Amino acid sequence: DLKTAAQTPPPPTDNQGDNAALARQHYNELKEVSLAKRHESKIFNLRGFNNYVKSLTMNDFLARLGPLGKRGATILDLGCGKGGDLRKWGLAKPAHVVCVDIADVSIEQCRNRYRERPTELTYKANFIVADCTRVDLDDKYVEENIPDVEFDLVSCQFVLHYGFESQGQAKRMIKNAVSHLKPGCFFFGTIPNSNYLVKKYLSLSEGSRFGSDVYYVDFLEANRTSFPVFGAKYVFYLDGAVKELPEFLIHFPLLKSMMEDEGCECVLAEPFTDYIYRTDPSTGERTLKDVEVLSRTRGLNDQGTLPESEWEVVACYMVFGFRKLTDEERE
Ligand code: SAM
Repeated sequence: DLKTAAQTPPPPTDNQGDNAALARQHYNELKEVSLAKRHESKIFNLRGFNNYVKSLTMNDFLARLGPLGKRGATILDLGCGKGGDLRKWGLAKPAHVVCVDIADVSIEQCRNRYRERPTELTYKANFIVADCTRVDLDDKYVEENIPDVEFDLVSCQFVLHYGFESQGQAKRMIKNAVSHLKPGCFFFGTIPNSNYLVKKYLSLSEGSRFGSDVYYVDFLEANRTSFPVFGAKYVFYLDGAVKELPEFLIHFPLLKSMMEDEGCECVLAEPFTDYIYRTDPSTGERTLKDVEVLSRTRGLNDQGTLPESEWEVVACYMVFGFRKLTDEERE
């Protein structure tokens, strides 16, 4: 029973804090790369693809907000990194974006990027360094003089899985995501697709690692017969982007149950490989969503396809979205 599992205290771990420190150090040390250098990267197309999917999710949830999605929204970017999404948010003309990340150097780079584009990024912004799995962001909002901030959207792109090391950390991260979210509004993002990762691992005839020439996933410490609910660790490597970082499986029904405990309903859960398509209800024909965004995306052809070794990485991810219920709906 997942609800019971979610309420059972996690076993103590002897490496508390080490993995967060590893993530902080890794992302802090990651160099900002020029466009010319990015062209040389083995994952040039994949980076473009991930940006395309992020834009799709942002546009999807901005649209769900109605007129506010076209101007004036307040947004939390949880695990914003170096600010790769600042310009994407700019297109939605929000009123205010709060950027939070564990990596102080990344936050500094994010702040600088924002300052360098005053005419394009006209929204108000705050930049906060915090381990979202351990710190109560309420305290940070007080320090930033935004104690009563209320979000229309909370975006969490490629980050939530770092929080599933323990029950306490996952709960803290989820509370940080939804506690200042307005009722009727949305928490969404991108995460590894645990079902796919586990299926790939279990289909290995030997060893604990699968991948292509651009990535690998290694379930080095895993046990083939069962996975813990929290702290189900694997190591992820992605050429030129992630060098062997520990990540943790998010069993989606568990996330759903934890979100329900916080008064949120699931409105989206789909692998990347399905989410990018729109199906015509009368003909059943599948076409790529938002070709306009696609055409602005570097590295992809107009079919939205990637070389096989990069497409394998795409298959490892899924999109998610939750809506916070209103008080009346919760009664
Ligand atoms: N969201 C950004 C994007 O899509 O470009 C960055 C994604 S990057 C794969 C993961 C980010 O999560 C890094 O910037 C890292 O510092 C951040 N992160 C990892 N653990 C975190 C934690 N406990 N609290 C806050 N941020 C965290």
